[in-house]
Amino acid sequence: MIEITGLVQGVGFRPFVYKLASSMGLEGTVENLNTGVRVMVNSNNESVEKFIEKIWSEAPLLSQVESVVVNEIRPLHFKDFSIITSRSLSEEITRVSPDIAVCDDCLADMEQQEHRLGYPLINCTNCGPRFSIIKGVPYDRPMTTMARFKMCKRCSIEYNDQKDRRFHAQPVACNNCGPVYSMLVNDSEIKGISDIIQRAAEIINKGGIVALKGTGGYHLVCDAMNEDAVASLRKAKEREGKPFAVMCRDIDCVNEIAFPGREEIEKLQSWQRPVLIIEGKNIVAPSVSNGLGTVGVILPYMPFHYLLFSKLNTGVIVFTSANLAEEPVITDDEEAQIKLGAIADAVVKYNREIYNRTDDSVGRFIAGEVRIMRRSRGYAPTPVKIEFDAEGVFGAGAELTSCFGLGKSKNLILSQHIGDLKNAATSEFYKNAYGRFAEMFRFKPEIVARDIHPDYLSSIFAEKLAMESKIPVTMVQHHHAHIASCMAENGINKKVIGVAMDGVGMGNDSNIWGGEFLIADLCDFTRIMHFDYVPVAGGDYASYEPWRSGLSWLIKYVGEDALNYNIPLINKTGHEKLYLYSELVGKGINTYYYSSAGRLFDAVAAITGLIHTSKFHSEAPMRLESAISPDIYSCYGYDINEEVLSFGTTIREIVYDLKTGINPEEISAKFHNTVARAIMNGIMYVSDISGISDIVLSGGTFQNRYLTEKIISELSSKKFYVYYHHNVPVNDGGLALGQVAVAAARRDTGMI
Ligand SMILES: [Zn+2]
Ligand SMILES: [Zn+2]
Ligand SMILES: [Zn+2]
Repeated sequence: MIEITGLVQGVGFRPFVYKLASSMGLEGTVENLNTGVRVMVNSNNESVEKFIEKIWSEAPLLSQVESVVVNEIRPLHFKDFSIITSRSLSEEITRVSPDIAVCDDCLADMEQQEHRLGYPLINCTNCGPRFSIIKGVPYDRPMTTMARFKMCKRCSIEYNDQKDRRFHAQPVACNNCGPVYSMLVNDSEIKGISDIIQRAAEIINKGGIVALKGTGGYHLVCDAMNEDAVASLRKAKEREGKPFAVMCRDIDCVNEIAFPGREEIEKLQSWQRPVLIIEGKNIVAPSVSNGLGTVGVILPYMPFHYLLFSKLNTGVIVFTSANLAEEPVITDDEEAQIKLGAIADAVVKYNREIYNRTDDSVGRFIAGEVRIMRRSRGYAPTPVKIEFDAEGVFGAGAELTSCFGLGKSKNLILSQHIGDLKNAATSEFYKNAYGRFAEMFRFKPEIVARDIHPDYLSSIFAEKLAMESKIPVTMVQHHHAHIASCMAENGINKKVIGVAMDGVGMGNDSNIWGGEFLIADLCDFTRIMHFDYVPVAGGDYASYEPWRSGLSWLIKYVGEDALNYNIPLINKTGHEKLYLYSELVGKGINTYYYSSAGRLFDAVAAITGLIHTSKFHSEAPMRLESAISPDIYSCYGYDINEEVLSFGTTIREIVYDLKTGINPEEISAKFHNTVARAIMNGIMYVSDISGISDIVLSGGTFQNRYLTEKIISELSSKKFYVYYHHNVPVNDGGLALGQVAVAAARRDTGMI
């Protein structure tokens, strides 16, 4: 008896075992269990060894074998080798495959298989929907939203033929039996895929907008070269600033609009098909990236996308999640019809339900590797391996860009990207997703880990869960969680220097942290150094109104005189507002102290006139990074006093540069160089006093490629060991992993 664990369901594993065993003349069975895959064979030791060797070396591309355990049992009688029906055996759980982009074989079948000619939901054991359609485990058709589609005779023959590529492909379907597309235009319904493709292409070619049901939710698409179309889509989405992703027909089209590197091209073509943020060429319509130098690019991943491009005049379409304002992406057909029908010229849907919502995942190439910044389709719910037992630990996550995490033995299952919990609909999505994950992964909470901020909706949910389940709560400081997340992802558990740079997170002193140098292990941390505190008035408004930070930094480091200077921020703000703000800060009304790197970047972006008010989260630091003039190596001054890192001198020198006519591009480069050098200086200081040379970088500010690459390369050249994120977001989307890691480590050492 051989038991195999890992990602071995929904990825063509049983047919692979079947073929392998048959080719070796072995007799026995293979079946899915909810713990993995079980193989029974009658054989001698030698051929079993060979068999196992091949399981490791020849396993299907999409599978990930984690362990193969052999137990000898009394011989059973088998006539041949066969695949037997799944059965549930234990409360343990196997892995659920993420959704997989359509494979080349299926695209070829779509042109030649009689019953699947042009069938836009074609799939096989190597591709197609998984997580988005799964309601429970083990992964079998009745447990998916395909349950209501009865297979036709031909599909059923393929499904039951152990030699077929569609053998036990749960969503298997064809033109005769599977889900079908339909399209709504001006209250009339169009059926038949070729008519739908033709009409959708016509609408897009003419500058219209189409709402299109995807794998994990709806998208809105239009011609990315047509400025009028993009501008009207922007208006319709009630989202004025945030860059739109674009889908390119193929790599040639990507090369036409951007500068992808080799690793980026590989990642774009991977079966996960994330959106990658790449240096743009400014060829797509200006409203796509709205003045940022980068463009978010994705390649087609559903058969429908390929069919659509075959009829489009353009090779690049805007491809943005169909959500209004900050709400979650729409998955429900009726809701799509009402909400998207009002803004799109047509709604294209298919009659298979999306059970688990996913967004497109987003990555960016930083320091030699594509790093995932938003982890959803193609990635969730693949577990992250951790070094210790985290069974039963729930990590509630943060508030913005939220994800939660569940500990299952030595794995952390991170939810898909959920979004900003301040939005009521998103908060509802969080609660629903938790219920579904808990059921799917048979999760029984034993410990709850949450942020120390008591008002985060994730914290409130965590407290309620703990109370209902009568289990303990452990609180994890935001930046400790960031560092622990990066440690857990990199499989380390020792004392490290944690450098956490981000927007906002509540500190142990109730101030708002975000420029922190910690000495940390998974259980606890000591704050050794931090960015200087600056008072900013306005509470939550501070995040969206960088001018507030700009004025605060000026007032603190230049003095009230600065309010009379002829510099962009002062000129834009207006006399009355300037003095009113200064009075608010002076009196401490609705004012908080920030040691946040995010706010510092906001301040500099505002002072240099690159931004005044943000139209989306993190816009100010993104604009500042985008403005960097290349080949400038100089720096401003900064000060380290009593373990406080102050950018007072930096601000004064920036003001001087502005007054002498230096452009914001050069200032931005010098500022980035300064922050990188100051962080290096901070790290050297902490390393000197502690003797630690393992450096862990985390927090949203490290999405800044220029800054992060500079720091990583300098640290590496100075013989430090640097740890950075790979597949778990460096921003708050990865926080739950840190919370779970901390709680599990505390439990391990008896602290809980
Ligand atoms: Zn396929
Ligand atoms: Zn069929
Ligand atoms: Zn954070």
